Amino acid sequence: MIENKRISILGATGSIGTQTIDVLQDAGAQAVALTTNRNVRLLEQQARALQPKLAVASDEAAAKALKTALADTDIRVESGTEGLLHAASLPEADMVVTAVVGMAGLLPTLAAIEAGHDIALANKETLVCAGGLVMQAAARKGVKILPVDSEHSAIFQCIQAAQGNRLHKIILTASGGPFFGKTQGELAGVTPAQALRHPNWSMGAKISVDSATMMNKGLELIEAMWLYDLPPEQIEVVVHRESIVHSLIEFADGAVLAQLGMPDMRLPIQYALTYPARLSCKTPRLDLAQVGNLSFYPPDGQAFPALRLARQAAGRKGGAGAVLNGANEAAVALFLEGEIGFLDIPRLVEQALDDIPDQAQPTLDDVLALDRAARQAVLRAKKL
Ligand code: NAD
Ligand code: MG
Repeated sequence: MIENKRISILGATGSIGTQTIDVLQDAGAQAVALTTNRNVRLLEQQARALQPKLAVASDEAAAKALKTALADTDIRVESGTEGLLHAASLPEADMVVTAVVGMAGLLPTLAAIEAGHDIALANKETLVCAGGLVMQAAARKGVKILPVDSEHSAIFQCIQAAQGNRLHKIILTASGGPFFGKTQGELAGVTPAQALRHPNWSMGAKISVDSATMMNKGLELIEAMWLYDLPPEQIEVVVHRESIVHSLIEFADGAVLAQLGMPDMRLPIQYALTYPARLSCKTPRLDLAQVGNLSFYPPDGQAFPALRLARQAAGRKGGAGAVLNGANEAAVALFLEGEIGFLDIPRLVEQALDDIPDQAQPTLDDVLALDRAARQAVLRAKKL
């Protein structure tokens, strides 16, 4: 019963975090911890509305301001990585929603697993960097990793009909992002503002740029590989402009199942929180006659090389995911600051993958070191 669930939301002030709160308030579930990087004003409002035990701002100055803002309440305020880890492992929580962006989600996800909490996983970068470590830890602790990402939720929903049959193939759908149909030449001069204008979804800045480069689909390929234990060769990507078919699975006999719905993250968020139950959801209902056409295209590997790079990293399994992700995070940040061009993002990621030696079975320390090395490689290469 979701009404009895106590939920800790890491990254409560972001796109997924705020939609999680929307779902939670509708369902009457309880938030026991809320975290932000530095959005004090919103976290204060959320904390006053939801009365969690713990509110965290990772940024030290923001945490000070949050402490002052919540001084008249009983809510405990903490800061930094320690605060985030505390929110992840709070004994009162039944479930942790990982909605922080980037590699910053890795340690808290591991802490939540160690504390025995089921995870509603939005933070795909965690699996890209350290999928092996995370899935092993979850298996050891008997913890469920429930996908929030719409494609992975779609696959998870389809798998409910598999009755133990193995998947022959996963087909991930990709919207194609704001630059679908553009050539490499046309992409050279695109600006951050253009890259942030996604046609179907309203999301945080980093994932919006990832959608524009199609690195998001590359990260999702690696996410699917770990979640569903399939080699990258059995994970296909198809561009589907309308974002109505959220992804598909194929069985040995060629039968294909899909999950369809309007593009709205509240449904996959809610399913992760209520699984296996289904409740009414505010998401607008699908009207196929109104949608009219569903279109599908092969991805353009020429204009969007990021997918190929991710496939290459996925094939190496090991530490290449951490390199791909770290380099991509660093390059996207530089692009958003106006320091590099759009096409420099995959170029710098490729260079990092070429330069940093592979590691077969990386430990957590190895993953952290590979992430640092990848970020440094991008900063060095940018200057050339
Ligand atoms: P966002 O930028 O809107 O929000 C990120 C949240 O994390 C904010 O609360 C922010 O304060 C916090 N945060 C940022 N950096 C942090 C740090 N270094 N330490 C601690 N907290 C930090 O991002 P989003 O769009 O909500 O995406 C969150 C995650 O969910 C990403 O991994 C993204 O890939 C994934 N995801 C998002 C969507 C979507 O529709 N937005 C869909 C699928 C998956
Ligand atoms: Mg997705």
